[in-house]
Amino acid sequence: MSFFEYINGELYAEQTSLSSIATEHGTPCYVYSRAAIETQWKSLNEAFGDHPHTICYAVKANSNIAVLNILARLGSGFDIVSEGELRRVLKAGGDPNKVVFSGVAKSKNELAFALQNNVRSINIESVAELERVQEVAASLNTTASIAFRVNPNVDPETHPYISTGMDKAKFGVTMEAAFEAYKRADLLPNIEVHGIACHIGSQITKTSPFSDALEIVLSMVKRLATQGIEIKQLDLGGGLGIDYQGEVPPSADDYVQSMIQGIKAHGIDLPIAIEPGRYIAGNSGVMLTQIEFLKHNTSKNFAIVDAGMNDLLRPALYQAFHNIKPIKEKPTEEAKVFDVVGPVCESACVLGYDRTLAVKPGDLLAVLSAGAYSFVMANNYNSRNRPPEIMVDGTQAHVIRKRESFEQLIAGETQLPE
Ligand SMILES: *Cc1c(COP(=O)(O)O)cnc(C)c1O
Repeated sequence: MSFFEYINGELYAEQTSLSSIATEHGTPCYVYSRAAIETQWKSLNEAFGDHPHTICYAVKANSNIAVLNILARLGSGFDIVSEGELRRVLKAGGDPNKVVFSGVAKSKNELAFALQNNVRSINIESVAELERVQEVAASLNTTASIAFRVNPNVDPETHPYISTGMDKAKFGVTMEAAFEAYKRADLLPNIEVHGIACHIGSQITKTSPFSDALEIVLSMVKRLATQGIEIKQLDLGGGLGIDYQGEVPPSADDYVQSMIQGIKAHGIDLPIAIEPGRYIAGNSGVMLTQIEFLKHNTSKNFAIVDAGMNDLLRPALYQAFHNIKPIKEKPTEEAKVFDVVGPVCESACVLGYDRTLAVKPGDLLAVLSAGAYSFVMANNYNSRNRPPEIMVDGTQAHVIRKRESFEQLIAGETQLPE
């Protein structure tokens, strides 16, 4: 079910028309659906049934405080990758005891902040980091609850830029190094081994890479048990894919059941944490943009729009496909094939190639599946202000982040003295 549907030829978010939002708030602008976010989260939560679990939403997918607050109200945990993300979670009312802290380069200050706030698990990505966590925990006279993020070396069969669990990735520790690292951790006075974590990549559309990774993680759990090292939580990461372009990823039920069956088959009955980002936010948002001009050259038609790669970077960054739909349905006889391009002075500033659209200047378009890894990557290249974010809740449209102003854009810059 989508919360972005045409009603009488006009695209809506829940019961709110997108053209009314564009008129009121201008373009480009992001629009999210509260019901969509909640439905996605609940589908995973319900799939676990009574199996002990924590859904740690990956904050980096969409870190708006309102999004985090909606999830905190449902009882969500959070996967963070920086102090800034932890500060957002706390501000949004999230429970730090349901927070896992991932990332390859956590600074001492970030670790101290996380330990002071009693996060559930620091997911350590190298032996050097283990020593740093020990040092920071000792200086604070506390104990750090940790997991190692292991690298099971399975191919998630996704885009190389969002593949993270293979031996050549910068992420995680190899299985062999992990075994030694756990033994070392077990000896350190300010470290408490809590779990084992893995995250093999993103936009994964099959269950097999997840089950392959799980098997490898479980073999490590058993191997550690022989050394008297007890794992208390399995953190199986994020990565569940969504439909951008007709992909058919596993359902929440299939994905979660395959994990539960997988661990039970080994007689292991541990609590499971997962770190979904894209699955919760991706299809819960769209970006609205308006056509400035149409341009034709000998071989191409261009629809030049007011949103660029600074507003939505994914197509330029990893050839990501976003469906683009007109906000008002038009008879398709007038359609032509366009490259939908933005204003930024880069040839990579394209939102979509070869799209069949019946459009004219002034028309509004919705760029779909723009709830995850979209606004969060927006930047100010070409001195363009970042767009606003709107959260639709039924018939209400709430501004959850204002459009950036020129003053905000240059705040922090100063000229040299005379
Ligand atoms: C990015 C990330 C996630 C979320 O991935 P999705 O594909 O959005 O579910 C989860 N865990 C870690 C460690 C990540 O880096």
